[in-house]
Amino acid sequence: MSTSTPLPSSQCRYLLDSLSEYVDGTLQESLCLEIERHLAECDNCRVVVDTLRRTVYLVQTLEQAQPTLPSDVRVRLFHKLQLDEFLEGDTVEGHNAEIAER
Ligand SMILES: [Zn+2]
Repeated sequence: MSTSTPLPSSQCRYLLDSLSEYVDGTLQESLCLEIERHLAECDNCRVVVDTLRRTVYLVQTLEQAQPTLPSDVRVRLFHKLQLDEFLEGDTVEGHNAEIAER
């Protein structure tokens, strides 16, 4: 089935505003419920939340693994790699930490 891409509703904009708080877990519970309800119906926002969650997870993981890497460098790195590439191949050049080869 091919559904035409829905235009971003005002609800989407409102949600995207609160998403970082939502992912952080600092958003009010009632608002979280609203977001989750919306996510159940909106693929666009679901993708955004998923990406955001992965970003947060990666940042936290890297923070533990490499506490010396400045956060703005990390952000730029993610931006440059567009996150997905980073997830697929962990072989960043110049990165001489243990690289698991399979
Ligand atoms: Zn939406």
